[in-house]
Amino acid sequence: MQCAAVFMPGDNMKLITPKASLQIEIEQLKTELSHLKASAKKQSKKLKQSEQRFTLAMEGVNDGLWDWNLKTNEVYYSQKWKSMLGYSPEELSDSFSTWEKLVHPDDKDYILAKAMDYIEGRTSSYEVEMRMQHKNGQYVYVLSRGLLVKTESNDKPCQFIGTHVNITNRKRAEELNEKNAEILEMVAIGAPASKVYDAIALLYESRYPGMRCSMLELHGSKLIHGGAPSLPQAYCDAVSGLIYGPHVGSCGTSTYTGKRVLVEDIETDPKWKDIKQFALPHGLRSCWSEPIKNSQGEVLGAFGMYYNHPALPNDEELEDLRAAARLAGIVMERDQAQRTIKALAYTDELTGLSSRASFCMHVDEMISQSKRHGERFGLMYVDLDNFKSVNDSLGHDVGDQLLKVVANRLKETCRDIDLVARLGGDEFCVLIKEVSDDYDAAYVAQRCLESIHKPLELSARKIIPECSIGIAYFPDDGEDLSRLLKAADISLYDAKHKGKNQYAFYKPELTKRAERQFYVEHLLREAILKQQLSLVYQPQFDVDTGELIGVEALSRWNHRELGEVPPTQFIEIAEKIGMIKPLTQWVIATACEQLLMWHQQGGSDLRVAVNVSPTLFSDKDLPQMIKESTGNTGIDASELVLEVTESVVHTSKSNLPIVKELKQLGTTLALDDFGTGYSSFASLKHLEIDSLKIDKYFVNDILKDKNVLLLVEVMIDIGRRLGYRTIAEGVESQEQFNVLKSLGCDAIQGYLLGRPMPGYEIAKMQFH
Ligand code: C2E
Ligand code: MG
Ligand code: MG
Repeated sequence: MQCAAVFMPGDNMKLITPKASLQIEIEQLKTELSHLKASAKKQSKKLKQSEQRFTLAMEGVNDGLWDWNLKTNEVYYSQKWKSMLGYSPEELSDSFSTWEKLVHPDDKDYILAKAMDYIEGRTSSYEVEMRMQHKNGQYVYVLSRGLLVKTESNDKPCQFIGTHVNITNRKRAEELNEKNAEILEMVAIGAPASKVYDAIALLYESRYPGMRCSMLELHGSKLIHGGAPSLPQAYCDAVSGLIYGPHVGSCGTSTYTGKRVLVEDIETDPKWKDIKQFALPHGLRSCWSEPIKNSQGEVLGAFGMYYNHPALPNDEELEDLRAAARLAGIVMERDQAQRTIKALAYTDELTGLSSRASFCMHVDEMISQSKRHGERFGLMYVDLDNFKSVNDSLGHDVGDQLLKVVANRLKETCRDIDLVARLGGDEFCVLIKEVSDDYDAAYVAQRCLESIHKPLELSARKIIPECSIGIAYFPDDGEDLSRLLKAADISLYDAKHKGKNQYAFYKPELTKRAERQFYVEHLLREAILKQQLSLVYQPQFDVDTGELIGVEALSRWNHRELGEVPPTQFIEIAEKIGMIKPLTQWVIATACEQLLMWHQQGGSDLRVAVNVSPTLFSDKDLPQMIKESTGNTGIDASELVLEVTESVVHTSKSNLPIVKELKQLGTTLALDDFGTGYSSFASLKHLEIDSLKIDKYFVNDILKDKNVLLLVEVMIDIGRRLGYRTIAEGVESQEQFNVLKSLGCDAIQGYLLGRPMPGYEIAKMQFH
């Protein structure tokens, strides 16, 4: 056993045995242990105190405190924690489920995962942002930080405590900045103004649930709808177009005064007195409006914020109203500038017509549209003849004036739907829409040639301008812009080559046909004016008695060069060139004279039917025409039958007063070609038709087709029930006659009983 020298305080050095030494060591350890225990107790007390102090401190600051006992799963929420979400302490229980219920469902799993990472030591800190639902239903942004408290013994976490800070304002500001940046980016990349307006409205609407925003643009003194994605369309339509003024709602007033207008209650505010009926039915009750101004301070429009309840803005809303109007101002100013640039680019400065750029764009659009609908359109290239000599001899100013005159003449001559453009120099182009036949463009071209060819005085010099025109058709002569222009250009060259002051089609045969058409038109005009047409009469017989009861007067045009032109052709041309009125006037007068002649020859009880074109039937001069002809001859108007086709039935509303007048005169009406158009039975009634003429088309097939037979039977039946007489046209055989007779048809007209013939032939028939 070894001996050790141990120095005891206060003792003198002495030799101690090993047993005694062990004893001393034990004593020393005991003392140390009791010291340690005392210190641990002290420490634990300290910890408790510091925890309490922490709790108290947290209660004192603006943060909410939570304390999650990981063993029992109990969670303590401080009063602040609860009040941050709008609740009083007793309204929320201290349990984990409280948090679970209030956290945004989209955030919950993510937050829990973060917490577990920290608790299980995979991360060294816990700091997360989450959305939690406030008692008022809205979500608030919360910053949550936490610390783990470990047990004294085994170093295992037993508590997870932390704070909640409301960071909604910061988040809203961040979001606002982000969205503002997105909107400015839209402006920078040139997004359409209406899209940007919608984005601005949606941005502010997302900040205030229940709020709806609108932007109105000021055009002159008119407020035009700019964007309001959440307001009812009917409301937007109703306010768009209003004229601004001192009492025109919130936006009308703010644009007028240039000052902010806050209307708490639309129902009672005098500024809304005249227009509240547009807003109230849609639930709109309050409206605040900030004038939108450009960088020079001029009012461009107004930004409006609406709520469905009476309200005035709080500070934040007021600031947002200002900011929204500023943002909208940037967009509106840019949009206006772009529109001005566009107008400059798309308008020819000298003449005010569309520019080449605009024209090309329109033709491109027209091509896609026409392709979709399988339509045709015409492109007319107009070039002044000898323009260079005007410029050279009279100067460029006079040349410019001439171009302006020509531009005006072209614009006035073309139809509203056509687009007239100046391509440059003395070249003009016309886009001719809605062409139904090859001649439509030729008509426009012909009118342009005539209108440009009128004399005018420039710089005291008389000038008679002339032009040449080339015409191309889409898709016939080119399926894209460049081919079409080329085709029109080639035809223009052709027209110039042939001697100027004329037009030419890309396809020469079209030019020839159009020239022929115009020639025929010219001859017909002349023939009608010189009364070179003649009338033939086709007899109509009573089916039962076989008596001649009337005739139909039919026009004939026999031209020495053209020969016999079928009436179906020349009647159509007469309608097109506006000569149907003098033609019909002549027909009625001639028919009345013929009737008088038959009377004088002993014939009586004969009615004469004349065909009246639908266009003329709505002409207010028609009754006067009849009065004159009957008055001049002493013929009773009741001896005159007007044959009209079914198409007049459709224009019946506007025809009603004329029909009344005709009826008062005593004339009778026959519905010609019955069954081939679209009859409306209601109209049949109010047109006061006297007889129905069953078309030859049905009579032709009456023996061959059972369905046709049935149709004719029905027509006769309808006629009988409505009190009309029925007359069948185009009866060529005895068999047809017999069937019609058996069906109860009243009268017959057709080659079987008589072809159209001169008046004296009728006289012979009647008086035999
Ligand atoms: P619409 O009024 O239906 O006249 C009946 C047509 O059928 C006449 O042809 C007549 O000659 C023809 N027709 C009569 N019976 C028979 C027959 O048994 N067989 C055949 N194949 N044909 C028969 P048209 O004279 O050629 O007249 C054709 C159309 O021209 C008329 O049809 C009418 O719509 C129009 N029209 C003729 N003259 C005038 C007029 O002076 N003014 C107006 N606005 N239209 C007229
Ligand atoms: Mg007829
Ligand atoms: Mg007919």
